Amino acid sequence: MKRYISFLFLLFTITLTAQLQSPSEFLGYEIGTQFSRHADVVRYFEHVAANSDMVTYASYGKTYERRPLTYAIVSSPQNMANLENIRKDNLKNAGLESGSASPNIAIVWLSYNVHGNEASSTEASMNTIYKLITENKAWLQNTVVIIDPCINPDGRDRYANWYNSVKSTPYNALQEATEHNEPWPGGRANHYLFDLNRDWAWLTQIESQQRLKVYNQWMPHVHVDFHEQGINSPYYFAPAAEPFHEIISPWQRDFQTQIGKNHAKYFDKEGWLFFTRESFDLLYPSYGDTYPTFMGSIGMTYEQAGHGAAGLGVNTDEGYELTLVDRVAHHTTTGLSTIEISSMNAAKLNTEFKKFFDNSSLKYKSYVLKGNADKINALTKLLDQHEIKYGYASGGKVSGFNFGANKDGSMDSNGALVVSTNQPKGKMVKVLFEPDAKLSDPLTYDITAWSVPHAYGLETVASTTLVTASGSKPQAFALNIMVANSPGYIAKWNSLNDAGFLAELLQNNIKVRFSEKDLSFSGTAYPKGSLVITRSDNKNNASFDETVIKIANAHQRKLFASPTSFSDNGTDFGSGNIKLVNKQRVAILKGDGVSSLSYGAIWHFFEQQLKYPLTSIDTDDFGYINIRNFDVLILPEGWYQSLLNETNLNKIKDWVRDGGKVIAMGRAVNSFEGKEGFDLKKNEGDKKEEDKDTVKGNLIPYDQRERESVKDFITGSIYKVTLDPSHPMAFGYGDTYFSLKQGNNSFAFLENGYNVGYIKDEPISVSGFSGSDAKAGLKNSVVFGEARIGRGSFIYLVDDVLFRSFWENGKLFLVNSVFFVNNNKYILD
Ligand SMILES: [Zn+2]
Repeated sequence: MKRYISFLFLLFTITLTAQLQSPSEFLGYEIGTQFSRHADVVRYFEHVAANSDMVTYASYGKTYERRPLTYAIVSSPQNMANLENIRKDNLKNAGLESGSASPNIAIVWLSYNVHGNEASSTEASMNTIYKLITENKAWLQNTVVIIDPCINPDGRDRYANWYNSVKSTPYNALQEATEHNEPWPGGRANHYLFDLNRDWAWLTQIESQQRLKVYNQWMPHVHVDFHEQGINSPYYFAPAAEPFHEIISPWQRDFQTQIGKNHAKYFDKEGWLFFTRESFDLLYPSYGDTYPTFMGSIGMTYEQAGHGAAGLGVNTDEGYELTLVDRVAHHTTTGLSTIEISSMNAAKLNTEFKKFFDNSSLKYKSYVLKGNADKINALTKLLDQHEIKYGYASGGKVSGFNFGANKDGSMDSNGALVVSTNQPKGKMVKVLFEPDAKLSDPLTYDITAWSVPHAYGLETVASTTLVTASGSKPQAFALNIMVANSPGYIAKWNSLNDAGFLAELLQNNIKVRFSEKDLSFSGTAYPKGSLVITRSDNKNNASFDETVIKIANAHQRKLFASPTSFSDNGTDFGSGNIKLVNKQRVAILKGDGVSSLSYGAIWHFFEQQLKYPLTSIDTDDFGYINIRNFDVLILPEGWYQSLLNETNLNKIKDWVRDGGKVIAMGRAVNSFEGKEGFDLKKNEGDKKEEDKDTVKGNLIPYDQRERESVKDFITGSIYKVTLDPSHPMAFGYGDTYFSLKQGNNSFAFLENGYNVGYIKDEPISVSGFSGSDAKAGLKNSVVFGEARIGRGSFIYLVDDVLFRSFWENGKLFLVNSVFFVNNNKYILD
């Protein structure tokens, strides 16, 4: 019996100590010897939370492919019992919640695997949480750690599943092996192929939207975004490189250095190489390092050698073998070291965090914005997600910097949206809204301009004095009601909401027209582009009125039920200038040669914003498919030289002659340059004028060549573009548009086609960096154009209007191109 009891006792103690397992014990393989599936990672975190009083684990949402998005909160048992107060005290300290508090608990947020194929970090997240609660509990006395083991589960599983399915056993370290060469589109991006590390500010993807809700609840003091770089660069950690955005505080700079030095201690001990300060700057606000930085945190990117080319082990160019085991060890070390140094500086982190939220020294106190109500609403929706406060002006003149004029000016503020910097998140307001971000160095990793007033196409004045926002919110939409026997309905065409309305009408087989002339019926004027939905066109539809009104109300579109089809100005309902909109069958190319980001942005736009069907065709299949099943073919940004061989080019040309429409975006336009029949020539302008009389040979020193090359750069800057508002591609716009230009690509005015958007002989850049040669090269260039061949058209969108999906005001050009431009083909059904 005694023996039996001691056996039971033994069993009991084994079960107790065996409750919490290491990731390797739990998953059954040494971490780093396999890529773990996302579901297994979730199971491990659930196991940890179930077996530790220091951890809670919850889901904050789901991805597009329905994988769970999750986060663990880790701290001492005492802190865990007091978590809600700790969280609130932090918000009080920043002024984000009413009341006062002087907390001294550090809050550290570790984000893993935002790029799906940079896959070592999710493995490291499991080791990190385990080591944190077993070996490093002491740090948790004054620190709360939030761990998001995988920001991008769809991308990670795309990579991990692919790798697991093709790898050799044992793994093959030769770079040439299949397992080191991912197929298109790779695992980096999310389901819609968006780079989630460019989406923090714009929140176009559900992963970003759902994560930010939790982020706002916590507002961490330190945020790390774990990445991987090329296989030959060892490890990068803070401090970051110039340019730093000017709002970054001396403390934020200084603590980055302290963190870097703490990591260096461990790396030196192990003999691991690293570099700092030479790349990865802190300017563009939509990254996992800059966004938290501009929200008061110490935001950092850590980059391990690896990514999709590394697999479980790969030979580097320098002859070393880089293994997943090593990659995991490095990321685990920096994660833990970050927590350690934060814990050591917990009190200071809190006092400096508070200081960051004092915005009294910012130059512009208020941004006052006016324009189309839908565009204002789209912007307020974005501000709501960032929990940035705003109000409405009660009237009167406001003076300051006028964005449209690009100089000082004034505006009547009646009903305008007011976003002020005298709020805790004022620095982020400055970053997102300011006319031109100060640039300490043009050699940056990304675009240098993103000004929200231009991105949303709003008339804006930035005022150096605070503008009171005591006005009331614009009136809510009043539902349309049925009007018996009206010959038709008219609706305005200004925004993406109008586009969504049209898309749903077409999908419900409602016949819709649009007007190429300004309209006036019974004293009510409607500009070009307005939709006309006639009873005559829909006479066989018994539920015509109900359907149109139901869809209009769902989209909050105001309908004018015209009492007559006889116009005031000569353009009646039956006029040839009021054209039927064809229910376009739209195809898009994807696959090798196509920019996955550009394809993804268009795919996402059609499915999630416009809600209109799109057929994706793989470039490998293009030679076989019957293009005549489609009316529109979209070529995303890409490199089509090999696809557009003579046979395929003739196939496209023949189809266009018969009425097809090609829309080429960004660099896809290059594919048609200089070829016969496309009316498209490179614009040489007066680029490099100095070359004419300089002696041949280059005496620019070796170490200055990179600097010199910036003359040719346009690193994402905003240009004023003149529009032809009478062309259907520009319906809904005025006569100017501010375009985000991402490079020095420049084409001469079309000789025979329509130059719908163009830059004349004085290129005006209102924001961002442009090198002198690149800017000069834009003189007299087409930005948006249409060239006709036979009955069809080639549409050139030289500036990609869907880039990262954040340039809201450009999207209608694409919709207009699909449904309105050269609308002479109508299929009877
Ligand atoms: Zn990355």
